[in-house]
Amino acid sequence: MRKTSYPEQVMLDTIRRAGSDEGLIVEEGHRLGLFEFDAFLPDYNIAIEYDAKYSHDNSISEIRDNEKNQAAALNGIRVIRVRSLACPVLDPFDGVEVIDMGTEGYWEWNKVFPKLLNKLRDMGVPVKDVKVDSRGDELRIRAGYMKPVKNNIAITHPSVAAEWDRVKNFGLSPQCVSRGSHLRAWWKCSYCGKSWHAMVTDRCGQRHSGCPHCNNSSIIRSMKKKAVMQAKAASVSC
Ligand SMILES: [Zn+2]
Repeated sequence: MRKTSYPEQVMLDTIRRAGSDEGLIVEEGHRLGLFEFDAFLPDYNIAIEYDAKYSHDNSISEIRDNEKNQAAALNGIRVIRVRSLACPVLDPFDGVEVIDMGTEGYWEWNKVFPKLLNKLRDMGVPVKDVKVDSRGDELRIRAGYMKPVKNNIAITHPSVAAEWDRVKNFGLSPQCVSRGSHLRAWWKCSYCGKSWHAMVTDRCGQRHSGCPHCNNSSIIRSMKKKAVMQAKAASVSC
């Protein structure tokens, strides 16, 4: 199975939506000999790479990235690298463009991928502007690529997984997430039937958060009960 990441998938989703009116073909994981490109536009011979800090900030990846740029150039492929500022600066190469990315995160992705669309337009690719909302669209995007994992919450936390709202989660299954996930998903209360939004780790971790609708009302109920008991106790002691 090809290794991918959430920001890489946000990038692919952005290019696909931006090129959908023109039927732009966007290939994922296009192979060129020993190398593989995150995104590839076959009709324009353009490859796009997402260079995250954690996987590209060492000397081995620096050599590999330079070799990949060279292989692309030899094959007439232009390359755009959306690259973290924490990564080493690569050798300058004709046909390789770099879009600098600062701190990686939702806000940065929302800013940097529209810049990528501008660059593609400059290179003659018919893409329209699209809004990038990497947080708001997270469930939809993740549902498109996430696969079942070994220790998923359906195994480790079956009662929590039973409240997973598959419809609101864009068809994503609880088998695809593990207990420590920071994904904000929708849940449907098995007691009151109302839905709410919460992080997987908050539901499965020490906080064991539950439905805010009936939890809240049970807190209010217990507070009222306590107040009545205190009033009774006060009247007895008088
Ligand atoms: Zn409830």
